Amino acid sequence: MSTGIGPGPAGTATGPAPRPAPVLSVRDLSVRFLMPAGRRVAAVTGARFDVLPGECLALIGESGCGKSVLASALLGLLPGNAQTAGSAFLGGLDLLTAGERTLARTVRGRLIGLVPQSPAAHLTPVRTVRSQLEETVAALTATRGRAALRTAAEAAAERAAFPATHLDRYPHELSGGLAQRAATALALVGDAPLLLADEPTTGLDRDLVDRTVDELRRHVDDPGGTEGAGRALLMITHDLAAAERIADRVAVMYAGRIVELADATAFFGTPGPRHPYSRGLLEALPDRAFRPVPGMPPELGDLPDGCAFAPRCARATDLCTGQAPPSGEVACHHPHVPEDVRA
Ligand code: SF4
Repeated sequence: MSTGIGPGPAGTATGPAPRPAPVLSVRDLSVRFLMPAGRRVAAVTGARFDVLPGECLALIGESGCGKSVLASALLGLLPGNAQTAGSAFLGGLDLLTAGERTLARTVRGRLIGLVPQSPAAHLTPVRTVRSQLEETVAALTATRGRAALRTAAEAAAERAAFPATHLDRYPHELSGGLAQRAATALALVGDAPLLLADEPTTGLDRDLVDRTVDELRRHVDDPGGTEGAGRALLMITHDLAAAERIADRVAVMYAGRIVELADATAFFGTPGPRHPYSRGLLEALPDRAFRPVPGMPPELGDLPDGCAFAPRCARATDLCTGQAPPSGEVACHHPHVPEDVRA
């Protein structure tokens, strides 16, 4: 199983094949919001993961756990009262220290294609999909000339399975699924090596969720366009079924920290999650135990000492409340082991 953490051994003649260089490498990423009266909100703490070429990493957790803040940090879209630490390298560029000019000209659209949470809000309401695609093609590629832009916009729509018959429609004339495809088409125009999908299935019914995530996965497996293989997908979602459907690996976030990083097959199947919170998330699913995680997440501005999950955790001990869990693939003093699962 790939750890996805750390630079990884290069492999030897007798050892495993070398791991490809990550598309995105995040190390010790923290985000603090400075609030009035000196209050500090620890929105993200010490996030550490890689996303490899051809891979989908699903970042999952409840609302307010910090996952969308992490996405905003990667895109340089945090508000002015945010402070960041750590690094997030993409194509040799540290996204956390890049200036706004670089982020606008080089990162958004070109290095990161954003599939937004609310496609209808992301699209300009007073312009047709065709017009928005042509403008994005002109901004992100070398294509010039009316006819060439039209052809390129139609090709971009086709890549996202957006029907050519709907290109001259306005966003309010589209169904939720077609608006999602239009937003995906825009995200794909720049042939970005990283697709960042931030809650891409919000508000969609199950059938559309499946189709949307399958579509995203297709752009990783068979990216088309000019970039060739090697695109990566970071999907931020609270929808575990969507994550199970397409993810290669899963990162679980709780109270601003990544508490488990696991291979998706092992996580959703056998032996299952090792962190008690991760197990609670799965057991809350209707097609599993349908038993919600008791209690509520803590305020990010008032995190307890030790493990932030301790007040909700049946395995908590004095060690958990007194000492922060170890960092690593499972941030827990008493993680589940495979024997627990077989019991
Ligand atoms: S460190 Fe302790 S309280 Fe936290 S998840 Fe693990 S067992 Fe539960």
